[in-house]
Amino acid sequence: MPSPQHEFDVVIIGGGLIGAACADAMAARGKSVCVLEAKRTVSEASWAGAGILHPIHPWRYPDALQPLLRAAPHFHERAAQDLARDTGIDVEWRRTGLLLMGDALEQLATWCGSLIVHETVRARSQEPLLRVDGEALWLPDATQVKSHRLAEAYFARARAAGVVVRENCPATAIEPGWVHTAGGRVRAAQTVLCAGAWSSRLAPRVAVEPVRGQILLYRKALRRMVVFSDGAYAVPRRDGHVLFGSTLEHVGFDGRPTEPACRDLEARAALFLGVEAQNLVAAWAGLRPGTESRLPYLGQDLEREDLFHAHGHYRNGILLAPITSEILADLVTGHAPEFDVSELPR
Ligand SMILES: Cc1cc2nc3c(=O)[nH]c(=O)nc-3n(C[C@H](O)[C@H](O)[C@H](O)COP(=O)(O)OP(=O)(O)OC[C@H]3O[C@@H](n4cnc5c(N)ncnc54)[C@H](O)[C@@H]3O)c2cc1C
Repeated sequence: MPSPQHEFDVVIIGGGLIGAACADAMAARGKSVCVLEAKRTVSEASWAGAGILHPIHPWRYPDALQPLLRAAPHFHERAAQDLARDTGIDVEWRRTGLLLMGDALEQLATWCGSLIVHETVRARSQEPLLRVDGEALWLPDATQVKSHRLAEAYFARARAAGVVVRENCPATAIEPGWVHTAGGRVRAAQTVLCAGAWSSRLAPRVAVEPVRGQILLYRKALRRMVVFSDGAYAVPRRDGHVLFGSTLEHVGFDGRPTEPACRDLEARAALFLGVEAQNLVAAWAGLRPGTESRLPYLGQDLEREDLFHAHGHYRNGILLAPITSEILADLVTGHAPEFDVSELPR
């Protein structure tokens, strides 16, 4: 039997969407890549995510992230087309539009400015199946994607390009030139940390903390658009189901859904969508990688040339995955990225 390979140009720690997209982009630039995943790939936040490709409350993020938030949706259409061609996987990227209700209409309209098409409408003129009505902001060009399919497609293409993916293989320490795992160490010319909410455990200088989000899945049709209202959102899927979320909970690393949160979401979904308990199909939770500054860690480590960061994407990791992977692929190959990330933590 050939002995397993232990030496790579790049070792990526974490097999969520960010790790998958980075592995794919780096393999496409000719790097030999190994992904180490503590559990199964795409089983954490990137599996749980709603897949809205528009930032929630974008005006609350610092200036340093604004160019990425604005550019990120445009990377998805091309990514979806190329992945479908190369892997046969349909990631369910769709331009479904987004309707915002509630008290933040003015902030979002100002944020959209002349760059993002938007208009003021009555909510139910746009989405007659809503239980509530009122003034709303309609963004017809907003898109969504199925996050776990996107990650699986990236992994499929990465594997076809020779990327080695080791599941059930937690990294235990990073040192110059090596990543340690319970099963031995792996030689890494460069290491990219993509361990989501767990990233601080491997890089103590990093301050990423888990923020739990819970979601309910209903059998219920909405016409097709994503609807936001006062912190809650409904995301219609192509198969006729609707996701309803979410919570923001600082409860450590417990990624399980809870009774009280589900009951609260159920009550809100009943008021908002008119759905009943018998339409509930599933409930789940995921741990977002949050940072106090609301900025992701992106780029080369400030102290170590061989270590790169791509984590802390909080509520925007699905949106930012393709753009993150291009930036990281530029950096590990010694090119200046198209976007200035020098103001982001790393
Ligand atoms: C309910 C919910 C809804 C969301 N909705 C949206 C949305 O609509 N749009 C959007 O853009 N974002 C959304 N997000 C946020 C988005 O899901 C995350 O930002 C994104 O998935 C983070 O991806 P990741 O790869 O960094 O993390 P993860 O997907 O969590 O992957 C990290 C991986 O690292 C692994 N790992 C951890 N430690 C180690 C180790 N020591 N060694 C090896 N592997 C390790 C973990 O097992 C995990 O698989 C949502 C999140 C939640 C929870």
